[in-house]
Amino acid sequence: MTKRITLFGLLAMVAVSAIPMERASAQIVWRVSVKFILNNSGNRPASGGCNTDAEVQAQIDTANAILDAHMRGYRLQLTEIVDVEGISSWFFSDINSGNKSALEFAAELAPDVYEWRTNAINVYINGDGGSAICSFPPGEEIIFVGQGLRTTTFLHEIGHFMDLCHTQGCPCGSCDNDETGTCHTTPGDDEIAETIPDLQCWSRNQIAQWTYGVNYSALPASLQDKVDEVFNNMMSYHGTRFRFSPDQMDRMTCASNGVRDHVSNGETWIVGTQPGDEECLNGVFLQPAFANAIALASGNDIVLFRGDEYPFIGTVDKPMMLRTSRGSSLIGTTAAKLAATEGEEVIIPPAPKAPRPVDPPGAVSETIK
Ligand SMILES: [Zn+2]
Repeated sequence: MTKRITLFGLLAMVAVSAIPMERASAQIVWRVSVKFILNNSGNRPASGGCNTDAEVQAQIDTANAILDAHMRGYRLQLTEIVDVEGISSWFFSDINSGNKSALEFAAELAPDVYEWRTNAINVYINGDGGSAICSFPPGEEIIFVGQGLRTTTFLHEIGHFMDLCHTQGCPCGSCDNDETGTCHTTPGDDEIAETIPDLQCWSRNQIAQWTYGVNYSALPASLQDKVDEVFNNMMSYHGTRFRFSPDQMDRMTCASNGVRDHVSNGETWIVGTQPGDEECLNGVFLQPAFANAIALASGNDIVLFRGDEYPFIGTVDKPMMLRTSRGSSLIGTTAAKLAATEGEEVIIPPAPKAPRPVDPPGAVSETIK
């Protein structure tokens, strides 16, 4: 859900007028390093779904459009596309879990040969006809991609990299018509409480029937949206994928702040509580009040509110980005306040003039009374 930002109060209006364009697009990036495994003739795959720079860029662009729509401030940053010679034994390797693990092991043993990066998501592309397979935290890092991928595969795999399971359940892939039970006729658990049960082979009506006992068309719009949330989910196997639920976004935030911190350039500080299955692995990023988050956040960071009122009297003395999920948030008091509508960004900008000497370069003080 996306809406326009609303700001109230004279101080807030001053802040908006001072936003330089480059700050208005500030983001937390997840760095992505893409490697083409060349064959023994030194060539990329001659054909397939991802054998050109343009096809890599299209995956990144699609992912960023989807991430932008969620308005949490995350973007992919394609740091490089590298043609890697000398590792052609992987060129026709099946895209499967065993080969993925073996490729990662080899790459980490010889990082120069494999162009392995310790500060980016390492994506290796070969000539196999398979789709892709990813790694879950902690301990696994690599994404292994073949030529049978979908237009949304990069972001789907990066969802796994950021600790998200399939909506049909963590252990589940496609349904097998010859099987019954979990993953085939019974949904598995995706460890996200707010996403309703799903199976790869289910229609919207089957999803609706399982949870609500009626077909999709009989549901009110709010519950149709719950069905759509999984039927169009990035972490599903359904045909059209473009959604993450708020709790899925939070779970990726937890990973990005914590176990995947090495691929990002900033943190998201959540103000308030975060109960439920998506609870952060590292509780330091859950702060009880805005003042705590201000004290801890630094330059590239985001402060995320959770659709509530946040009393605050004080000074924001550094550039930061404020965002809210789960509805509007009110920050400050009724006398002068910042109000952020769900999915929106409020940017505390750097000063238009020289900062005070005690502030870090580019900082500005905003007093909310
Ligand atoms: Zn997957």
